[in-house]
Order: sequence, then C-alpha cells, then structure tokens
Amino acid sequence: MQVRFGTNAYDDPMEMLTRLRQTASVTTYKTQFEILSNRIKGFSPAHKLSCFLSGLKDEIRLPVRMLNPQSLNAAFGLAKIQEEYLISAFQAGKEGPKGFTMQNGLLLYKGRMYLRTCDSLKIAILQQVHDGPWGGHSGFLKTLHRVQRDFYWPGLRKDVRKYVRECDTCQRLKHETCNPTGLL
Ligand SMILES: [Zn+2]
Repeated sequence: MQVRFGTNAYDDPMEMLTRLRQTASVTTYKTQFEILSNRIKGFSPAHKLSCFLSGLKDEIRLPVRMLNPQSLNAAFGLAKIQEEYLISAFQAGKEGPKGFTMQNGLLLYKGRMYLRTCDSLKIAILQQVHDGPWGGHSGFLKTLHRVQRDFYWPGLRKDVRKYVRECDTCQRLKHETCNPTGLL
C-alpha cells in the first residue's frame, strides 16, 4: 500500500473536487467549485467543465449535458435556467396546465422540453440543430422538425423560420447556387 507524504484526501483540492456534489443551489455549488478549482494548477478548461457537470444534481445535469455547453460559464447559465424551471414547476403544483408534465424533474410540454422566454438558449438550440455537425444548414421544415422533436416554446415555428432565413451561410450558399458564374 502506498502512502503519499504530507497529503491526505482532504488536503487535495482535486480529490475534493471530484467528490463535490451540488446539494443546495446551483450558485452555491459553483462558488464551492471555483474555490477548489482555483487551487488546482494546470486544470484544463475541458476537464474543469466535465468535473463541473458531473457534480450537478441529476435533474439539472441531464438537460444541461444535452445542450452540450462549450464553457463553464455556458454550463452555469444553462444550469441556472433549468433550476428556475424546476422551482417554477414545483410552485405550479401537481396540476399543471394542459399538456404539461414533469418527468425526472424536467418540465415537459407534450413530451418535449419546454423553454420559456430565454432567447440565448433558443439561439443556442437553433445553432446546434441548424449549423451543428448534423444540421448541415437544412431548410426551414427539416430544421423545424428536428427542433420540435425535443423542444417546445411558444412561437417556435416563427423563430425557426426567421433563423433559417437570416442564416449567413445559407444566404451565401443560395447566392452561389443562383449565380453559377463559375460555369460561364
Ligand atoms: Zn444555414
């Protein structure tokens, strides 16, 4: 058996960080997380992000992971939003409005993740679905169907139409297709 000199598990910030779990609010958890992570030298952002995600409560971690945040701040923002949903859903009581259900702590509308008015999150979803590696800048209907599979928000259809219409890459591609100057 090996014993490391001069340290025990409780002095090792990395060890403490991997054991850290969210027990109270997301903000409290993030504060504790940062105090510990600031003591670790050469902690890569990707590793830090994955440590942060694994300590979140299940009902918060799962939807946040699904949105694939690229930075700790993005993950923190999404976790806060999800926490808000949970609080408002519990306040609403068991008998929610028609079509709304709670499943594993997630507020769902007709089985899809329900988003209220958070524009940055909607944009992040549209970007991922339309511009992301599997999106390939599909047209309006295909993008709409993909978003609708997992998400719902009031005005979704309109938002998708606007997003696709205003997408720079799509406009450029369309422009190139309409003007095949290279062929002349
Ligand atoms: Zn596009």
